[in-house]
Amino acid sequence: MSQLVSQYDSVLERVNESRKRAGREDEVTLIAVSKTHPAEDIQTLYDHGVREFGENKVQELVDKYEQLPKDIKWHLIGHLQRNKVKYIVDKVCLIHSVDSLRLAEEISSQAGKKGLVCDILLEVNVAQEESKFGMSLAEAPALAEQIAALPGVRIRGLMTIAPFVEDAQENREFFAKLKQLSVDIMQKNIDNVSMDFLSMGMTGDFEVAIEEGANLVRVGTAIFGQRDYSLHS
Ligand SMILES: *Cc1c(COP(=O)(O)O)cnc(C)c1O
Repeated sequence: MSQLVSQYDSVLERVNESRKRAGREDEVTLIAVSKTHPAEDIQTLYDHGVREFGENKVQELVDKYEQLPKDIKWHLIGHLQRNKVKYIVDKVCLIHSVDSLRLAEEISSQAGKKGLVCDILLEVNVAQEESKFGMSLAEAPALAEQIAALPGVRIRGLMTIAPFVEDAQENREFFAKLKQLSVDIMQKNIDNVSMDFLSMGMTGDFEVAIEEGANLVRVGTAIFGQRDYSLHS
């Protein structure tokens, strides 16, 4: 078995152990974050049965989409510019990074042109880091209501990127806050809004995120190894 496959399997095992430790019986989906890694690596995992992959750049997602089997479920997890929405709206299963009404309007409009309704998550900058995208916890409920009124998108849940920390326990409070926000939004009973998905947790902190309720975890490094950005200009 290739090293890549065994790394994937060991992450998947850790995902399931965390889920059980948290006393959860629902499903937690492991998204293999393949950004910067070649299509051959994705194909290797695909041949092992993996179907959920995450990319953070539109061009890279489109290139890989064209080279790889069409039943892959592509997750767009990175910041999305409005002028690039048209390239991916029919290629992704879920856009995790919707952080403004204007972006949601563009997704709705492009999805409408293709006769689709696009599933999206609202990205929340729970830790209020200056360097990160995402709406604030405070503005999320009102934005959810506005975005829910758009015909071409369907809000399926929330996403956050927690700070980079040595000790994953430090991020527990942020994960708990995103979970609480999802409960608060559910209680508003907004038409066209479900809170099916909580996308939180990466290589350094996915186990803590699962303990706090994550059901989509986005893991790159622990599966594929370190990313080499020098290969990509
Ligand atoms: C790169 C990336 C990940 C994966 O990060 P790792 O630390 O390599 O697991 C997860 N989420 C987002 C939004 C990313 O850009």
